[in-house]
Amino acid sequence: LVSLKNVNKHFGDLHVLQNINLNVARGEVVVVIGPSGSGKSTLCRAINRLETIDDGEIAIDGKVLPAEGKALAKLRADVGMVFQSFNLFAHKTILDNVSLGPVKVKGMKSAEAKALSMELLERVGVANQANKLPAQLSGGQQQRVAIARALAMKPKVMLFDEPTSALDPEMINEVLDTMVSLAKEGMTMIVVTHEMGFARKAADRVIFMADGQIVEEATPEEFFTNPKSDRAKDFLGKIL
Ligand code: ATP
Ligand code: MG
Repeated sequence: LVSLKNVNKHFGDLHVLQNINLNVARGEVVVVIGPSGSGKSTLCRAINRLETIDDGEIAIDGKVLPAEGKALAKLRADVGMVFQSFNLFAHKTILDNVSLGPVKVKGMKSAEAKALSMELLERVGVANQANKLPAQLSGGQQQRVAIARALAMKPKVMLFDEPTSALDPEMINEVLDTMVSLAKEGMTMIVVTHEMGFARKAADRVIFMADGQIVEEATPEEFFTNPKSDRAKDFLGKIL
């Protein structure tokens, strides 16, 4: 469903993505881990074309992402993204935050978008907050709204970039649980996270990145119990 072929990206002298090849199948959940600065966020941003690439090819559901234009906007709508910071519109209600995308981007009727949004808010467990403003919600609730907002666009794949790292510890699980259910429902997901519990529960595959390269790929079981490269061993030694 998501395919990267020989993707390269530089920031000046820094070769931040080095010949990345990655295929993510429909329904697959891939967890990306690696040290700070290894290029994980850049990889996510490239898949969503928030970042351009220097060469190589990224395709979503068989369609190569063009550099710009209407076709890009269309393909981008297939990719939902959830960031570390929730990025909700501060002056809009929770319901509006979720329903605006489908109305503005997909031309959905307002009533239909609101009904869909209520369903999604229900699914992530915050329907009772629909008429509040983001600042009135906890971080964990806001992040679940951000997930609902991304789902409202009916994406084919969801990207998560450290979705729980800005949260207080007691709120991490409510967000991870939402993500685990999404995974179980068959959503294709690429998740940058150091939450090993999530990886063990939900990931089909773990990808370990270091210095802009995919150094290791394995099942969570294999990776956590028997990492092969020294880089991965060293990294796991620091976080486990
Ligand atoms: P972290 O775990 O800290 O989030 P990461 O693996 O997500 O790290 P990236 O954010 O992808 O890493 O950054 C990879 C490298 O690219 C870093 O050295 C970073 O400083 C650099 N970088 C990222 N964005 C830019 C930019 N817009 N301009 C220049 N350099 C950048
Ligand atoms: Mg990052």
